[in-house]
Amino acid sequence: MAACAACGSETEARFRFCPWCGATQRRKVVEFFWPHPNSPGRALRVSRYFGDEPQVRFSVWDDGVACAAVSLDEDEARRLAEFLEQTESGVRPHCAGSDPKSTTESF
Ligand SMILES: [Zn+2]
Repeated sequence: MAACAACGSETEARFRFCPWCGATQRRKVVEFFWPHPNSPGRALRVSRYFGDEPQVRFSVWDDGVACAAVSLDEDEARRLAEFLEQTESGVRPHCAGSDPKSTTESF
């Protein structure tokens, strides 16, 4: 039995809204990303799971079939977001969790 994050009342996993307070019981948000032209026919699906075991799952889809997937915990997902944001200008950041051997690598 799941608990409503808003009011703490017991709900069922199949409920989209809490029957007691009406809060949304969203447990997953999904977004698709289109590929670079060098990866035709593929797509990236990113699913963010909430609840007891939060994670961000990346699935590579090839012609409508999921062919690989990996999940990141919340800290690693946040580090990925920071990496993308910080490297928009093409400058490599010094991330605490990155491999020190790769810091001399250039783009
Ligand atoms: Zn509720």
